[in-house]
Amino acid sequence: MTISPEAPADADARRAVKPVICYPNDTLPVPNLPLYRQARQAAVKTGEVLVQPRDAACFEVPAGHFFRITSVEGPQVGDLNLWNGADLSERFYSGKTRALHGTHITAGERMWTSFPHLRPMATITEDTLGWYGIDPYGGSVHDVIGTRCDPYTGNLLAGSQYHHCCHSNLTRALAGHLGLPLAEAEPHVHDVLNVFMCTGFTRDTGQYFMKASPVRPGDFLEFFAEIGLLGALSACPGGDCSAEHSSDTAACHPLLVEIFAPAKGALGDWKSPPRNGYDRSHGIG
Ligand SMILES: [Zn+2]
Repeated sequence: MTISPEAPADADARRAVKPVICYPNDTLPVPNLPLYRQARQAAVKTGEVLVQPRDAACFEVPAGHFFRITSVEGPQVGDLNLWNGADLSERFYSGKTRALHGTHITAGERMWTSFPHLRPMATITEDTLGWYGIDPYGGSVHDVIGTRCDPYTGNLLAGSQYHHCCHSNLTRALAGHLGLPLAEAEPHVHDVLNVFMCTGFTRDTGQYFMKASPVRPGDFLEFFAEIGLLGALSACPGGDCSAEHSSDTAACHPLLVEIFAPAKGALGDWKSPPRNGYDRSHGIG
């Protein structure tokens, strides 16, 4: 027997209750964007990596340096993982970043690290797609609501064995960079920042959707590294994610990652943010 609950007499009144924001963020530490942007002006490029389509690559960014992800050749979505370069257990926390900033992030917002650290690891300083806003479908760019395309979900839904989903690309790249076996690298791969991807939730069914990214060659997203970072970026097999991922069907393009070092003294007395101040006693002692 299935239960099909009858709506109570006051259903409309209950639905009409106004929402409140879970985490008002007016007490979040504010990044000093003017300082970062000024420091960026005289910064010099120290390296670059071209991420090949349907593949991933790693890069390192010292604390206080910048990195830029640029669309080249054609519209392309990127899946970004970030770790503390000195401690892989401190990594990007997509769920908490979403709770603090919302479903999509842009200039002035930050990527936060996992517990027990919970501190900003990267601040977005420039976003050439910042004009996009939220479209009539509820879609926006650079989401922290997706996970990363992966072969396990493909196998679950379609019985496939596809090896170039972002999860596998990131796993191979991290294993290669650190000289680890795949099985040791894989657990470090985590939910991503979906760079340039245009996504949202349908209003009627609440399902995660994607649509063709508005990104065009020359568009970029730039970050300030708040701590020393190891990054991995995958050029998603979905290409611009207009139709499908988890196959070789979509047109795919490379993504360019560039690293920039500020001039000595350009950041004044800026320091890496400390780890979270909670005492971790959890009510004992
Ligand atoms: Zn992907």
